[in-house]
Amino acid sequence: MLQEPDVLILGGGVNGVATLRDLALNGVSCVLIDTHDFCQGASSASSRMAHGGLRYLEGREFRLVAESARERNRLIAHAGHLVKPLEIVVPLEHLLGGFARAVLRFLGFTRFGGPLSLAALEGALRLYEAFGRREHPLPNHKTVLRRAHFPKGLRPQTRAVAAYFDGQITQPEGLMFEMLREAMGQGPRVAALNHVNWHKDGDTIIITDRFDATQYRMTPKVIVNATGAWIDDVNAKLGGKTQYLRGVKGAHLVLDHSALHQRMAGRAFYFDDGTGRMIITLPVGENILVGTTEVETKDAEDRAISEIEIAYLLRAIDGLFTDISVDRSHIVSMTTGIRPLRDGGGSATSAARDHALEEDRFPGCAAPVLSLVGGKWTTFRAFGEEAADRVLKRIGRTRTMSTAQRTYPGAAPFARNALTVPKEIATRLVARYGALAQEVAPLCVGPGSMALAGAPSYCRGEIIWAIRARAACCIEDLVLRRTQLSLGHGLQRETLYDLAEILAQETRRDPKDLAAEITAVLEDPRLMGTRAQLQENVA
Ligand SMILES: Cc1cc2nc3c(=O)[nH]c(=O)nc-3n(C[C@H](O)[C@H](O)[C@H](O)COP(=O)(O)OP(=O)(O)OC[C@H]3O[C@@H](n4cnc5c(N)ncnc54)[C@H](O)[C@@H]3O)c2cc1C
Repeated sequence: MLQEPDVLILGGGVNGVATLRDLALNGVSCVLIDTHDFCQGASSASSRMAHGGLRYLEGREFRLVAESARERNRLIAHAGHLVKPLEIVVPLEHLLGGFARAVLRFLGFTRFGGPLSLAALEGALRLYEAFGRREHPLPNHKTVLRRAHFPKGLRPQTRAVAAYFDGQITQPEGLMFEMLREAMGQGPRVAALNHVNWHKDGDTIIITDRFDATQYRMTPKVIVNATGAWIDDVNAKLGGKTQYLRGVKGAHLVLDHSALHQRMAGRAFYFDDGTGRMIITLPVGENILVGTTEVETKDAEDRAISEIEIAYLLRAIDGLFTDISVDRSHIVSMTTGIRPLRDGGGSATSAARDHALEEDRFPGCAAPVLSLVGGKWTTFRAFGEEAADRVLKRIGRTRTMSTAQRTYPGAAPFARNALTVPKEIATRLVARYGALAQEVAPLCVGPGSMALAGAPSYCRGEIIWAIRARAACCIEDLVLRRTQLSLGHGLQRETLYDLAEILAQETRRDPKDLAAEITAVLEDPRLMGTRAQLQENVA
């Protein structure tokens, strides 16, 4: 039974979930709701970097860089099973050129950047590493000037290569579900519901479960609006008019390309697309992620990835190594999401990545509304803490604990040998879930140990656990946010049938609805990539 909470959080992206975790651990009763699935917005579409934001130095966002570097280091220290150090290689075609312009831009005298030079990058990296020196710092950067020591195949114009360290969030969704678990572990005064509808009736918020129509009514003392790209729309629904958001859509390609993967050798490459704009490519498991684009949009539901974006990213990655070509047949899936940036002037690239808390009182809504505007994956903990502090003040409570040095549940020590599953399964479970493998393993025995059709590295028991422990309700929830099934060699049709069968057994959902979901997945280029389209055209 859901209890009347002090706080209602709208939006189950990383910022809403971080706020829920902080408040729950501080003994506050709170409910989080999401009209779709948890982590379905920008939080599932990031470049998966836990980074200090090297390029934000140019915009003189020092507070953001300092906070990001500190949070990055903490993530690597406290969630080491899901956030790892990542070496980033930067090929450079200029040694000194552009230095004066970079300095002028840095000092705010010009808005125009130029091609990145070794001198400018060297200066920026020294400053960057100084910001990241506190709490578990990463190794310092290195530069190489001798071509014989460059990674093979870089363009002949390359004059130098720099390599520095940041962090990679290998499974962002996994980290979010760990936070949800921690919050819900605080007892019945904390709850999180996905796939609900809600509306306001006076001061009461009425929530309806989309699948079983169960209704809940609550009159919270504070409402937190953490709906990312939907913030202004949601404030309008609460009775207020705001314009906090500027939506900048970004896409990534997920490639299955063994030669490229081998060449990258576990490193990311941050490189010029040929016009002075930087592109990041990094290994994600056996795949490679390439991004990103920047397209202004006013529609929070805009999920389209245009042909122009696909062609642009393909052209850029195809030009990275002279002896490795990349084409549409390598794209096994794609991601897109809207960066919920703070509204302000300038280009999409230069728009501020920092976050802000906005507090409003709307007519006809007794509870103050706190909007969480902007932010980055890297800084979610600090943003959640800041939001929680404001809420605590509003409800007259004081902080009793901090999450700053708290280990995430999957990073806790545990006895690997105690897992009662074959060694091969145990190794995979530990790699995916860290210490939580202990909860998953008991479901991966007997029939639960059977592999999913078309995805032999997943057991059926893992899917059952994702439904029971991580509230997966739909095929898309399972494919995109509870597993990495859209990676590898791409999603297979027969895997979807297995997922539907398990969902029908576990949730009693209507098989007809699940069949419609399978069709939707098969028609979605985000999930199927362009390789599947090409194969279908040949067939
Ligand atoms: C292309 C791209 C690359 C990025 N790369 C990085 C990176 O490498 N590193 C980094 O640190 N950051 C990165 N970011 C930024 C980061 O991903 C976002 O800032 C962060 O995920 C925003 O989280 P959020 O919780 O505010 O919003 P979201 O994740 O968008 O969550 C909002 C949630 O609100 C829900 N919602 C919508 N309407 C309602 C409603 N009416 N009621 C209830 N719930 C609702 C949605 O379903 C959604 O789950 C990137 C972003 C993008 C788009």
